[in-house]
Amino acid sequence: MFYFCSECKNMLYPVEDHALRRQTGQRKLTFVCRTCGNKEVMTQETLAKPVYKNIVTHTEKEKMVTMMNVTMDPTLSRTYNVRCTKCDAHEAVYFQCPSGRSDSALVLQYVCVACEHTWLSSDQE
Ligand SMILES: [Zn+2]
Ligand SMILES: [Zn+2]
Repeated sequence: MFYFCSECKNMLYPVEDHALRRQTGQRKLTFVCRTCGNKEVMTQETLAKPVYKNIVTHTEKEKMVTMMNVTMDPTLSRTYNVRCTKCDAHEAVYFQCPSGRSDSALVLQYVCVACEHTWLSSDQE
């Protein structure tokens, strides 16, 4: 958008009033004619319309580790030397705990064949 000098009809050049902006936070442009030195102040409140962006954050769903039928999985290791902390059964399948802390030793996750109760080897004394 161009503005023209009301005196000599030449093009006006915008000069931002930095002092005013520091004091009030408002943007105000002073248009100066380079031909005759005429100054015309124009308040352009719409000059600096803020642009709002819709920032959508996607929360990644936690991956669920399903225990469904895990006791029937023939590929899993099976032990008879454990005791279910819930039903005292002595048969359970086990695998390396996916959520085991990296700073700890190998943590095994047991799944009771009888009641599908799960516990960690770190839970046992
Ligand atoms: Zn002029
Ligand atoms: Zn059990």
